[in-house]
Amino acid sequence: MKSLYVKFVVVTVGIMILSSILAFLISNAYYQQKLKPDNDSKITKIAESVTTYINENSDTNLNVYLDHISSIGYQLYVIDEMGEEGYWGAGFRDNSLPVSIKELVLNGNTYHGILNFPQETFVTGFFANELKNTIGVPFTHNEKKYALFIRPDIKLLFNEMHLLFGWLLIFTIFLSIVMVIFSTKYLVKPISKLTSATKSLSNGHFNVELDINRNDELGELSNSFLSMARKLEQMDDVRKEFISNISHDIQSPLSNIKGYTKLLENGSISQQEKEQFVSIIHDEISRLSNLTKQLLLLASLDRGDDILKKKSFNIGQQIKELVRSYQWLVGEEGIMLSYTLPDVTVFGDPSLLNTVWDNLLSNAIKYNNPGGSIVITLEKREHSIFVRFKDTGIGLNSVEIDRIFDRFYRADTSRTRTIEGTGLGLSIVWTIIKLHDGDIQVESIENEGTMFVVELPLSHN
Ligand code: ADP
Repeated sequence: MKSLYVKFVVVTVGIMILSSILAFLISNAYYQQKLKPDNDSKITKIAESVTTYINENSDTNLNVYLDHISSIGYQLYVIDEMGEEGYWGAGFRDNSLPVSIKELVLNGNTYHGILNFPQETFVTGFFANELKNTIGVPFTHNEKKYALFIRPDIKLLFNEMHLLFGWLLIFTIFLSIVMVIFSTKYLVKPISKLTSATKSLSNGHFNVELDINRNDELGELSNSFLSMARKLEQMDDVRKEFISNISHDIQSPLSNIKGYTKLLENGSISQQEKEQFVSIIHDEISRLSNLTKQLLLLASLDRGDDILKKKSFNIGQQIKELVRSYQWLVGEEGIMLSYTLPDVTVFGDPSLLNTVWDNLLSNAIKYNNPGGSIVITLEKREHSIFVRFKDTGIGLNSVEIDRIFDRFYRADTSRTRTIEGTGLGLSIVWTIIKLHDGDIQVESIENEGTMFVVELPLSHN
C-alpha cells in the first residue's frame, strides 16, 4: 500500500508538471498566433530600414555598415546577383537556404522565413539559429542587386534580465518541490497519529494523545476523536461497574439462600428458627426476582422508542389508583399523604408511566421519617404537565443528588443501608421520562425532605 504521504507528493508534483505542460501549450499557441507574426513584421521593418538606408546612401561602405548592424545584435547574410556571399555577426548553426529563395529575394521580393518557420518547433522556433529562420529583403548598392537575410542574435539579446527570470523559474520549481515534500509530512503526520490512536483504542487503551490545537479540519477531527475516546472509556467504565454490581447483587442473595438452606438441613433447629430461615430465604428470592425484573425492564428500555405503547389516558386518575394501592403501607408507616390530582389527559405509555409514579411514591415512603408526610400534585400548563412528589424524609446532599439517577447508585447512609433496594429504580424512571421527551428534577435538603418534579410534554396529544 502506498502511503498517503507518497501519494500526496506524487499527486502534487504531477499537478505541477501537468500545469507546466498546459501552460507551455497555451503560451505556444499564443506565440504561434500572435507573437510570431508580430516578430516577423518587426524584423521585416528593421530589415527594410537597413536596406532603405543602403539604397539611399550609395557612398556607404557596405561592409562597415553591415558590420555595424551586426554589432547591435543581428546576424546577417548577404548575397549578390553574381552569387558572391558574406556573413556578418554570429554565424548560423545551419546555413542551408534553397537557391530559389535567394533568387526570389534578388528579384525584389521579401522572404518571411520567421513567419513560415515550421509550427512543430513550438515556441522554440524563436530560438532556432538557422538561415531559413530569417527575413530576406532586396537592396541595390552601386547598381548591383543584393539580397539581405537578417535575424536577431538571440544569444546577444538574451541579457542579464532574461537570465534572472530563467533562474527565478528554476528556483521556484525546485523550492516548490522541496516545500511540497516537507509540508506534506506536516499534513499527513496527524493522520498517522489518528491511525495509531484508533489501533490503541481498539485494543482497549483509551488514554490516547492527539494534537487538538490545530485550527483546521484535522484539529476538529482529532477533537471529535478524543471526545469519542472519552465517551467510549466512560461507557466501558459503566459496563464494568454494571457487571460487577449485578454480580454482587445476585451473588449476595444467592449465598444467603445457600447458607440458610444448609441450616435448614440441620435437624436440630427449632420450628421457630425454621420459619425464620424460610422467611429470609423467601425475602432473598423476591429480592432476586425484583432485581431481574428491573434488569429486564432496563434492557428493554435501552432498546429505545419502539417499546413504547403510547395512548391517551387520564394521568390524574392513574396516580390516584396507585395511591390507593399504597394506602395500607402509608398507614402502617404513620405517614400523612395528601394529593391534588385533577383529571388531565396525556399521550404516553400508561404502563411505563405507572412504573415511574410507583418508584417515586415507594421511595417517598421508604426514605421518609415515621410520622412524616407526602404531598403529590399534578399541574397542567400550556405545553406540559408537572407531577411533584414531595416528602419530609431523610433528604439528599448535593453529591448524592448528582448521582441519584446512575444505575445501582444508592446513597450510603446508616439509614438507607437498612432499607431494601437495588439502586435501579430511579435510573428506570429517568430512562422512561427521557423516552417520553420529558424531564425530571430533584430538589432536596438533607434531613428535611426531597421533591421530585416530573415534566411531560403535552405536544404529542
Ligand atoms: P433504591 O432501590 O435504592 O430505592 P432508587 O434508584 O429508587 O433505588 O434510588 C436510588 C437512591 O436514591 C436510593 O438508594 C436513595 O438513597 C435515594 N433516594 C431515592 N428517593 C429518595 C427520597 N425520596 N428521599 C431520599 N433519598 C432518596
